[in-house]
Amino acid sequence: MSNLHIQNTLSRKKELFKPLNAPFVGMYVCGPTLYGDVHMGNCRTFISFDIIFRYLTALGYKVRYVRNITDVGHLEDEVAGVGEDRVGKKARIEKLEPMEIVQRYTVGFHEVMSLFNLLPPSIEPSATGHILEQIEMTKQIIDAGFAYENDGNIYFDVEKFAKKHNYGILSGRTIEDQQNNTRELDGQEEKKGRLDFALWKKAKPEHIMHWSSPWGEGFPGWHIECSAMSKKYLGETFDIHGGGMDLIPTHHTNEIAQSVGCCEKAPVNYWIHTNMLTVNGQKMSRSLGNTFLPVELFTGLKLASDSPTATPSQAKLDGKHPSFEKGFSPMTVRFFISQTHYSSTLDFSNDALIASEKGFRKLMEAIRLLEKLKASEKSSYDVAALKERCYDAMNDDFNTPILIAQLFDAVRIINSVNDGKEFLSENDLAELKLLLKIFVNDILGLKDDVMESAGEITDGLLQLIIKMRADARNKKDFSTSDLVRDELGKLNIVLKDGKEGTGWELKS
Ligand code: AMP
Ligand code: ZN
Repeated sequence: MSNLHIQNTLSRKKELFKPLNAPFVGMYVCGPTLYGDVHMGNCRTFISFDIIFRYLTALGYKVRYVRNITDVGHLEDEVAGVGEDRVGKKARIEKLEPMEIVQRYTVGFHEVMSLFNLLPPSIEPSATGHILEQIEMTKQIIDAGFAYENDGNIYFDVEKFAKKHNYGILSGRTIEDQQNNTRELDGQEEKKGRLDFALWKKAKPEHIMHWSSPWGEGFPGWHIECSAMSKKYLGETFDIHGGGMDLIPTHHTNEIAQSVGCCEKAPVNYWIHTNMLTVNGQKMSRSLGNTFLPVELFTGLKLASDSPTATPSQAKLDGKHPSFEKGFSPMTVRFFISQTHYSSTLDFSNDALIASEKGFRKLMEAIRLLEKLKASEKSSYDVAALKERCYDAMNDDFNTPILIAQLFDAVRIINSVNDGKEFLSENDLAELKLLLKIFVNDILGLKDDVMESAGEITDGLLQLIIKMRADARNKKDFSTSDLVRDELGKLNIVLKDGKEGTGWELKS
């Protein structure tokens, strides 16, 4: 059993992690609503959970990681439960099918996730693919007496639920407090109580997305999709549920109420919430208009989004956001994110990114240098103790900044060994290489993208040399073409003439 401790939003305590059914772990994270490009704030949350997923896997757990795609039911003002469906509105404005909108932004979302080197979740279910499950769960909640119908709409009866259960269990807020903080809005007359929320909404004639249900044509509420899909794939009670902390007071509070209302069981043992990415201290959000798209920061990347399916914003931008002096690589941004604990706010700025870029380069250079270090008889440094400190950091609620501080101790030692001031034995050198692979590549999910782009540059330069050699040959200048072949040979590079032209490879 591992010694992992997790800060549980539900208990407000750091608790020892005990999976329900080890070695299996079920984890559900609320995914994006795909009516637009995901912004850096969304990416912070998904990168944080990618690290959590990777760490659980590194501990030997077999994780079923479910991250959904919201493609229906998320209204413009979800706290008040009013407004148009976000995907439907975009489809109406752009005169496209809702599925066309979702497909376009799903392609962009996956592309960004893979640039940031996120592992794909085990299951990525969509709300529109699970309408039957949502209807079924809504029926069960009605049968349990916690929901009522009014003119084709089904509402969850929060006051009735709160008589039997603690509705504010996750946020720690009393129901009175929540009632006082909720606005009464026009068009809400069908609801009995101010906090009641829709499980199913009647579709108005102009509403594009609708399905038949026992209560007429309509569409599901936003919260029910996560309850229905987590139950389907992870069971009535599962280990971990995550998302940004902005989801605590409404979306996750209502998810708990629905699941308890349906099954009389707490759905989740550990709730993990990431804090917000901010800009000048303000939450990054589409409604505030202060979002950055990842592609606005990246430089030197060939994006598949140059294709016709690209979102317009992605196609035109490449490391050119006016708030930043220069572009950054996706791995620099990922490193920057992991330098702050997921539960603290993180302010996004030019200076902070410049500092992270320096740190990231230093780490990657040390790892490259490590490959070249010579072993000594004995070690002057305790690699096993460093390994323990790295696990301690991650076991303490996935504390990536502390882990990174430990990794910089490894950087210091690597440089000292190179300068002849410290020594590492053969065995410790191998241990250190393995440790850096596990923590830097496998757990933090960082890759040496400087070397990756160096690989592209090398290939480009060799293609140029090959072309110059072919020109020399065409001019019957065999002394130059032979010289090129011989000099490349000294670098272990072999040229291969074939039907498709000349290629190159490294001599094994
Ligand atoms: P949405 O597409 O708005 O439903 O958000 C998808 C995920 O991103 C949710 O888990 C949100 O909590 C999270 N999120 C949204 N804005 C931010 C932000 N500024 N910083 C961190 N996470 C965010
Ligand atoms: Zn959700």
